[in-house]
Amino acid sequence: MLGLQAMQHRGQDAAGLATLEKGRLHLRKGLGLISQAVPSLDGIGGGSGVAHVRYPTAGAASTAVDAQPFFTRHPGLLLAHNGNVTNVPELSRQLREQGLMVLSECDAEPIMLVLAQELTSRKPSGHTTEDMKTALAGVFARVRGAYSVVALMELDGKETLVAFRDPHGIRPGVYGRTPDGWIAASESVALDVLGVEKMGDLPAGSALILRAGEEPVLLEVTSAAPRPCIFERIYFARPDSVMEDGRVNRTRWRMGRQLAREWKAKGLGADVVVAVPDSSRPAAMAMAEELGIKNREGFIKNRYSGRTFIMPDQASRDAALRLKLNPIREIFEGQRVLLVDDSIVRGSTMRRIVRMLRGLGPLELHVAVFSPPVRKPCFYGIDMPTEDELIAARLDQDELGEYFGVDSMTFLSLEGLAEVSGTEICSACFDGDYIVPVSESERREIEGSRRG
Ligand code: SF4
Repeated sequence: MLGLQAMQHRGQDAAGLATLEKGRLHLRKGLGLISQAVPSLDGIGGGSGVAHVRYPTAGAASTAVDAQPFFTRHPGLLLAHNGNVTNVPELSRQLREQGLMVLSECDAEPIMLVLAQELTSRKPSGHTTEDMKTALAGVFARVRGAYSVVALMELDGKETLVAFRDPHGIRPGVYGRTPDGWIAASESVALDVLGVEKMGDLPAGSALILRAGEEPVLLEVTSAAPRPCIFERIYFARPDSVMEDGRVNRTRWRMGRQLAREWKAKGLGADVVVAVPDSSRPAAMAMAEELGIKNREGFIKNRYSGRTFIMPDQASRDAALRLKLNPIREIFEGQRVLLVDDSIVRGSTMRRIVRMLRGLGPLELHVAVFSPPVRKPCFYGIDMPTEDELIAARLDQDELGEYFGVDSMTFLSLEGLAEVSGTEICSACFDGDYIVPVSESERREIEGSRRG
């Protein structure tokens, strides 16, 4: 439960937790934060479990039916995932033809049903680790997209946690040894809170077989070029998490330093660097250090404002932003300010921030973003708007500067990002290079579900 709470930033729409106690299912899930969806563990028995927080990337509005984990009685399989399956309609049709119905809008369910079908079509029960390897080859061949999965079932007559990751390892996944078994999670902070050391990242296109009292067994199922999601490092993951390329905080720092070099090359100058909280802080610090200028906290973030509802007019939207993010006048007044943000998606928040800051009388206002312009939607598990809502798909860097009303606008270059990353990454939302092809009809389907 503690590990799940450390993952709350990855989803606030729904949560769930389930265990198997000698084959008997205990399941608790619902909408809202973990504390609302799983208010207590009373009556939940069993030694191992699967838990999840939901942030919908498929299925526009969350319903309790879409909350994870999912369970199927044949072969007694409990499963949760992080990611986005791109060929859900095709899988649903295949499953329907086999008499299996997908009942939810959540793409964990088709993954679970495909895995169950791959297992039970060869053998109804008594599955072994070898059977799992064969079944996973079927899953990797049939299920397209990006997914990190934890599944719990009996293999070789023993309760077994199976953790696997899509062939390109787009979504993150780590594992570690607890005093009485094993844990696999999307981020290492889930291990930190339990005092568990990260042993490694889940290998792409492979599975780990984890059982209490035994060493992990690696099932190498398929091989493809790893392309972890760079947006996890830029924005989504917690800064204290450690991924393949190191601590997220350090990666943001390196991005900030590279951005500072690119910014300096434009011949620009500033008096103070200010981060748009929270994920921009390490990059802003790095920029200030590289540029040799001061770094100040310019905003106070209201931690308790919660979600801002859709406001009917400009004035109330501005008030809602100010409720969330109140700027400190003295930091901006009469200064040449370099504002640092992690990304520009729709652009509406940055436009409102700039309007708010202009009212404080800065001498100059420059914006630097430590990611390239987001020009393409993500079909691999980050809930981005459709292409027509992405402001950088319509306006270039200078046009965006004008649109925001700033003195200069600078994005980290794709080349700079690649240099900082030091490894092959997924950057499809910046350059449209989708490593897992997404057909036109699949795009329409995913974008349609996001529009609701
Ligand atoms: S498209 Fe962007 S957000 Fe989506 S997985 Fe790739 S890098 Fe991450």
